[in-house]
Amino acid sequence: MFQLPSPLQKIETALTRQFNVNLFIKRDDLIHPEISGNKWRKLKYNIEQAKKENKDTILTFGGAYSNHITATAAAGKYFGLKTIGIIRGEAYQPLNKSLQFATDCGMELVYVDREKYRNKNSSDFRSMISDFEESKIYFLPEGGANTLALQGCAEIVDELNIDFDFICCACGTGTTIAGIASNLKPHQQAIGFAVLKHDKLEQEIFQKFDIQHSKLTIQNYPFGGYAKTTPELIQFIKAFYIEHQILLDYVYTGKMMFGLFDLIAKNYFPENSTIVALHTGGVMNANVLSEL
Ligand SMILES: *Cc1c(COP(=O)(O)O)cnc(C)c1O
Repeated sequence: MFQLPSPLQKIETALTRQFNVNLFIKRDDLIHPEISGNKWRKLKYNIEQAKKENKDTILTFGGAYSNHITATAAAGKYFGLKTIGIIRGEAYQPLNKSLQFATDCGMELVYVDREKYRNKNSSDFRSMISDFEESKIYFLPEGGANTLALQGCAEIVDELNIDFDFICCACGTGTTIAGIASNLKPHQQAIGFAVLKHDKLEQEIFQKFDIQHSKLTIQNYPFGGYAKTTPELIQFIKAFYIEHQILLDYVYTGKMMFGLFDLIAKNYFPENSTIVALHTGGVMNANVLSEL
């Protein structure tokens, strides 16, 4: 059911030849059709922990298009745990594709307004979920961003059987890139591509996780903000699909790959560098091929 270790695939294109870099893509998008990419990495030890603590329910948080919500719902289905999704904003009917999928997996959705959602870690919030049996609930933060998630993401590096210099990943909370950065050899560096407008993401990651500063750089490719696109980005994703038959999404991996190609073209990488780009999945919820 799970394709692990995920495949590593070489990408050759005019750009990599011109700038003399070796580019590989690690296909975490192929780990599982419904719990794809870094969401599985982040859930793995949390599910183990929930079971260890004898919880029967995972409760987590996300927006209406959250890959973390859909992945948690699917994981609950496969691993025999109930799931509750606290969704930011109002309920809309019909449900969008992500929330419909989550519901089909058995997830119970609870909608909270933006203000309450912001206070989601307060005791106030706990009283709002008093309908549920709290002692049985395993609380997982938004985006699955905790230390156990970090541990799961660190394993991405252990699976790589080539000697690489740089490893790249799209960043929302930054948990995935932080986990990767925590497990590198002295000559290796992680580059996170921020897909949202967030000036302080780098600072925040270093505050939250114990990562050496020399191991991680954040590059900003927000294209106007989270889940926003430009015609240039859409064009890039289509061209990438036509050339490599690999589908990128416009929320995360499309922005990372665009950013990475941009850095290659700006001569960011020394000649002969070996670069691994992590395909973190996400195409189930947001792809652009339907527009082709
Ligand atoms: C959630 C997600 C990310 C971001 O992961 P973080 O650990 O929050 O930085 C990247 N890519 C895809 C496809 C995602 O779904």
